[in-house]
Amino acid sequence: MATSSSDKPNAPTGTPKPMAPGDQAPEGTPGTGEDVCPRCGGSGRIGGSACPECGGRGKIVKGIGGA
Ligand SMILES: [Zn+2]
Repeated sequence: MATSSSDKPNAPTGTPKPMAPGDQAPEGTPGTGEDVCPRCGGSGRIGGSACPECGGRGKIVKGIGGA
């Protein structure tokens, strides 16, 4: 009797995308924009491992326009 398929029992609602530790806001938030991760310089990797700041994306979301 599965009325809805869900393979994520602990998935919270309202979080369509995971945020990296370096993100100041969820991706797509008005007044924010992606910028090159200052920690890894956009490579997404540090010392052969995924950058902990951007989660390996090489970019972080931060406020723009002096918000
Ligand atoms: Zn990074």
